[in-house]
Amino acid sequence: MFNKTFDTPVIRSIAIVGSGLSGLTAAIQLKELGHDVTVFEKSRGPGGRLASKRVSDGSVDVGAQYFTSRNPQFLPFLRQFGGDSIFAPWHGRFGFQTSTGQWEAFPQENRFVGTPRMTAITRALSAHTHVVTETRVGSLVRNDQSWTVYDTAGNPLGDFDQIIITTPPAQARDLLADSGLDRLASYLDDPVSRVLPCWAVAAHFPVSPWLHHEGMRCQHPALFWVANNSSKPDRPDDGQWWVLHAGPSWTEEHVDTPAEEVANRLLEAFRQLTGFQVGPDDIVTHRWLYARSEGGEQPGHLWFPDCGLGFAGDWLSGGRVEGAFDSASGLVAELTASAVTR
Ligand SMILES: Cc1cc2nc3c(=O)[nH]c(=O)nc-3n(C[C@H](O)[C@H](O)[C@H](O)COP(=O)(O)OP(=O)(O)OC[C@H]3O[C@@H](n4cnc5c(N)ncnc54)[C@H](O)[C@@H]3O)c2cc1C
Repeated sequence: MFNKTFDTPVIRSIAIVGSGLSGLTAAIQLKELGHDVTVFEKSRGPGGRLASKRVSDGSVDVGAQYFTSRNPQFLPFLRQFGGDSIFAPWHGRFGFQTSTGQWEAFPQENRFVGTPRMTAITRALSAHTHVVTETRVGSLVRNDQSWTVYDTAGNPLGDFDQIIITTPPAQARDLLADSGLDRLASYLDDPVSRVLPCWAVAAHFPVSPWLHHEGMRCQHPALFWVANNSSKPDRPDDGQWWVLHAGPSWTEEHVDTPAEEVANRLLEAFRQLTGFQVGPDDIVTHRWLYARSEGGEQPGHLWFPDCGLGFAGDWLSGGRVEGAFDSASGLVAELTASAVTR
């Protein structure tokens, strides 16, 4: 039987800001340990950068393209809380272009995707925890022994013993600044370099472009990544949805360019790269202000036991989907250990 007291809390009430993979991982693991967890998410649904957009014949992945499974605990966690059918290996040819324009193969590695779309993973995980969507956390106020969480309109969202922030670092800094917690924000300086922006364009072609690879990292001033979304398992269409990601520098230069123009520019780059001249019959665009992180010290996670505030997210642990899982798992382990020793 668990007892809840403020001096030696055994069951804690914990608020998690953000319902990407790191927020949901932390929420599930803490709930499994008996804690009372609420996840706040500013968007309409959970998932963060594990994102797919609905299109007429299914959906297309505009955020993370695939994930790895180097941590032996990652796939068992997904199976336990999502079931066997939410992800599958993505078999294909993956290559990158050298500075001389030659294609070379990516290192051999198992690559996985959500099925039938990337968001299948976070949708399944979110069923195991309490996620409050369309609620942007605007500030955090430290009381004597607890925190009060407010939305951006100043409405209280509840009192919590502990807070875990899983947003990208720039959004975490804003939240801390708006909460008058600038001293804590300064702790984010070392691990953070930057999370870079990315324009994403998904294009549907009436006939399938034939290319040498299912996923390609390109040497092009605009294009960074090109993938055949239809080659992923459990996608209903037959080879015609393609995803184009712009590089970070090009995106920074074109961050305010209208989406239609961005799509035209990336499709022109796709034509230059592949020689495929047929125009698309459907297009979806998405601008990521925070996509992939670069540099930084990568401490895994940050935990401040004296005030009961922690940070998890991909940017603290390798900048990838699996890093988000590693970061959240590491934070939960430290949080649990510090509870035992205090
Ligand atoms: C275009 C693109 C391509 C990528 N490709 C790959 C890839 O191929 N392989 C790979 O491994 N990784 C890839 N990544 C990176 C991968 O998506 C991330 O590493 C991972 O999804 C990060 O998860 P997270 O939980 O740490 O952060 P996020 O998914 O960003 O979750 C943070 C959440 O916090 C929410 N939020 C922010 N502020 C607030 C607030 N104030 N209140 C409430 N909620 C808030 C956000 O809406 C979001 O849902 C890619 C990312 C992008 C964008």
